[in-house]
Amino acid sequence: MSTMTALSPEVLAKYQPVIGLEVHVQLLTESKAFCGCMNRYGGDPNTHVCPTCLGLPGALPVLNRRAVELAVLAARAIHCDIRETSIFSRKNYFYPDSPKGYQISQFDQPLAEYGWIDVPDAAGAAKRIGITRLHLEEDAGKSLHDGFADSVSRTYIDLNRCGTPLVEIVSEPDIRTPDEAFEYLTRLKEILLYTGVSDCNMEEGSLRCDANVSVMLKGAAKFGTKAEVKNVNSFRYIRAALEYEIGRQIEVLESGSRVVQESRLWNNAESRTYSMRSKEQAHDYRYFPEPDLPPLVVGEVWQQEILKALPELPEARRERMIAEYEISPQDAMTLTATRAFADRFEAAARRARSPRRVVSLITSELTGRLKLAGLDLEQSPVSLAGIVMAADLAESGDLSSKMLKQLLDTCFAEGKDFAEVYEREKPQQISDTSVIEAMIDEVIAANPKQVAQYVCGKKTVAAFFVGNVMRLSKGQANPILLSELVTKKLDALASAS
Ligand code: ADP
Ligand code: ZN
Ligand code: MG
Repeated sequence: MSTMTALSPEVLAKYQPVIGLEVHVQLLTESKAFCGCMNRYGGDPNTHVCPTCLGLPGALPVLNRRAVELAVLAARAIHCDIRETSIFSRKNYFYPDSPKGYQISQFDQPLAEYGWIDVPDAAGAAKRIGITRLHLEEDAGKSLHDGFADSVSRTYIDLNRCGTPLVEIVSEPDIRTPDEAFEYLTRLKEILLYTGVSDCNMEEGSLRCDANVSVMLKGAAKFGTKAEVKNVNSFRYIRAALEYEIGRQIEVLESGSRVVQESRLWNNAESRTYSMRSKEQAHDYRYFPEPDLPPLVVGEVWQQEILKALPELPEARRERMIAEYEISPQDAMTLTATRAFADRFEAAARRARSPRRVVSLITSELTGRLKLAGLDLEQSPVSLAGIVMAADLAESGDLSSKMLKQLLDTCFAEGKDFAEVYEREKPQQISDTSVIEAMIDEVIAANPKQVAQYVCGKKTVAAFFVGNVMRLSKGQANPILLSELVTKKLDALASAS
């Protein structure tokens, strides 16, 4: 079947895509989920292992308390209800990287259910995506296929990852477009980073997503048959894979065939998905309760104790900051890009004479220069302390905006912080009243037309004089003093006439 032919807008408009996402997230614990082995990415193969995570006979699992705490934090951050008693189950399947022959997971009584995340829809309005469940489970090891002399005939197994604690977060089929899926994942990742439950590093596999997608005729009573796209390692590729898959399924339906339920693999190089296995064959996991682990009980007292570590979440933080610093939603996005930066920003802004000015310096002066230099906020040569210093100098009138811009340019050109450049170049500011007045007189004498306008009541023309005197002073006139003196002089002329 060819997917090269673009579907016409009329055909596309007949169909409604439906998407649900399953996200696996590795938890940032010191040790693994059910044994004392180190939970760390990498390491020489098969060095972070013990009888329990190797699945040796007789070895028994003991649940990591910290994994439960992180799972509860994540669950509450996405508004799930915590089940007081949840049950571990065995999910049975054979695969070489899972030595026990089963995965310890949760099945019909998961740790948490009924959550949601709000995402902006195409029009920018908030759309609520339901979260079916969040449950605890363990990761498998890795099969290594490349990089060995004999990799054609052999597969190597590294079990360092085996037993790493995971949460799986399953969304309701509430997502309607690839863009919404992208937004959902972006918000979810941000929440998980803010709560500190995972580093969400997709290259290292700390966050992995399987995307389920179907299409149906608009207005149909029942969802279409879904395919599950696996092995996609960035949010952009997930969006691309969903777009591809929606087109493919519509073509299948338009050609009079039926979509088969299956798992499909995304191929980055070719930007398309391939059938991996049909779901029916691979679906009987014969779940049963894990006999080696007691039910997990998270009582009210423990839950409250855990939730003390729940920080202000990104969405709430943005709303508060928009109100507190009178900034735009876009600026709030920039400032809350990471929790660490937002924390440092707020600590700095609160030290400054005018938090509002710190914000505007960052969003109007700093981010533009960073973009040009190809740096992000964390790599800025001008530190937050430097920005606060600059903002305070501007606020007190000791630094005109022109001088400020020049100093920032120098900071970026030399890769130096503001304090150093300022101390060296400390611009000579003119605060001598008589010198400024002389310049104002000069500009007034040269512009009788504007003077007449002011005298006739057009007060805004004062800005014209301020600008011209500033230019005459090569940007060195004290701006506050300057505008006071301009107004005084012009008012004197007005009342004299
Ligand atoms: P399975 O039994 O195949 O695991 P589930 O019902 O558990 O399927 O759902 C798995 C994921 O697929 C969930 O995220 C869910 O929202 C999504 N999903 C379920 N049905 C559909 C559908 N028809 N189209 C798109 N996504 C779906
Ligand atoms: Zn172990
Ligand atoms: Mg399922």
